Amino acid sequence: SLTVADLVNWLHRFDELTATELDWLTELDSAIGDADHGVNLIRGTRALRERFEGQHPANVGELLGQAGVTLVATVGGASGALYGALFVEMARHVGSAKSIDVATLASSFRAGLSGVVTLGRASPADKTMVDALTPAVEALEVAAERGASLRQALVDAFAAAAAGREATTPLVARKGRASYLGVRSVDHIDPGAASTALLFEALSPHLE
Ligand code: ADP
Ligand code: MG
Ligand code: MG
Repeated sequence: SLTVADLVNWLHRFDELTATELDWLTELDSAIGDADHGVNLIRGTRALRERFEGQHPANVGELLGQAGVTLVATVGGASGALYGALFVEMARHVGSAKSIDVATLASSFRAGLSGVVTLGRASPADKTMVDALTPAVEALEVAAERGASLRQALVDAFAAAAAGREATTPLVARKGRASYLGVRSVDHIDPGAASTALLFEALSPHLE
């Protein structure tokens, strides 16, 4: 299962990946938005890093809740409120658990996705972060159903998120700034779907 320390490492790794991919996120948001997604997000991931450096909350719900509030306060833009909703709803779902298994991870991400959709009203294929998040949540649910190992569940979730990110390319944006472009948004990856795939990459097993 995933402990508070594992989840702090996850957020730490999300910050590292955001830093590595900062220029790419900026490029994606320049094409169909206002070029700030990378800069918005890294403000948040840097703040998470500072917040949890040498100070781990007592349980998973507190960690995710504090992370959500921090993201809302620092990221800004549409994505700040949406990432905030994801984490806050996950926190509410897991409560005071000390660690979470595959089934709880799946159900908490499902709750987080509902929070994102309640706030942003995006449907699948509207070319948003929902298009990476939805298949990742489904992959976790399938893994939980099959009794897959945590490792396999996380590998599958990242593969699904990455496929969801790629699948935004041919779509016409129907939500957020990119929707102002109409058909000119076609042939570009959605920046929020790209960063959501990084969130799952950060959670997937990796070689040190
Ligand atoms: P802003 O568009 O305010 O500059 P960002 O650039 O940080 O904010 O984030 C843009 C991303 O937010 C988009 O690529 C998209 O994935 C996501 N997004 C925008 N609006 C919505 C929405 N209504 N529902 C879900 N995701 C959305
Ligand atoms: Mg933007
Ligand atoms: Mg902006």
